[in-house]
Amino acid sequence: MFPSTLGGGVVGRALNRGIWSYDVINIRDFAHDNYGSVDDEQFGGGAGQVMRADVLGDVLDSIKKRGKIIYFSPRGPTLNQKMVREFAAAPDSTYTLLCGRYEGIDQRIIDEYDIMELSIGDYILSGGEIAAQVFVDSVVRVMDNVLGGGADATLNESFEIGGLEWPLYTRPSVWRGRKVPEVLLSGHHGNIERWRKQQSDEITKERRPDLIKEK
Ligand code: SAH
Repeated sequence: MFPSTLGGGVVGRALNRGIWSYDVINIRDFAHDNYGSVDDEQFGGGAGQVMRADVLGDVLDSIKKRGKIIYFSPRGPTLNQKMVREFAAAPDSTYTLLCGRYEGIDQRIIDEYDIMELSIGDYILSGGEIAAQVFVDSVVRVMDNVLGGGADATLNESFEIGGLEWPLYTRPSVWRGRKVPEVLLSGHHGNIERWRKQQSDEITKERRPDLIKEK
């Protein structure tokens, strides 16, 4: 499952250039039996298995440099771009990313290791691995020297500009009779900026009024 999508694109190039690195631990390697079982039924009854505290404790203890431990879980605060920036800017940005399976993990692991829970949205995935990839992709791409185009490339984006991005266009200037808005071809930077701002405001007001209230 790793690096999976993290091996491609700008994040993959940053991996090859050593801007970030990762280790994967297979939790099954820490199973206490020969079957590799890491889960058991819930105390109190109910459908679904829970990942065992004793197994996960051994996994976490085996990691020399843990940094902050994050457990991906629908119960955590939802990751947003402001948090992404903070994770990327942390002085020692080493993280242990704990990916759940089944119904999740034994609560005592969360308590024992003072783990931060983090959600990537209000829906249920079957495992935390995709959430971990969302985390790494979004955090790595705002790190220095990852994107070409300098700091601007990550600043001129939805959420970074206090709203959603304006419509984007590239060549050809006419496609199936559809023209690129005149102003973008004018070369008049002041007008272009005003047009983009106005488009961004309109789209944000229509689609995500909550972002405007947050300002
Ligand atoms: N029983 C849990 C859901 C378990 S889903 C609940 O009701 O809250 C199995 C695993 O997928 C979780 O342990 C978690 O690591 C991951 N996961 C599922 N949805 C997620 C989300 N929205 N954000 C982050 N991780 C998620």
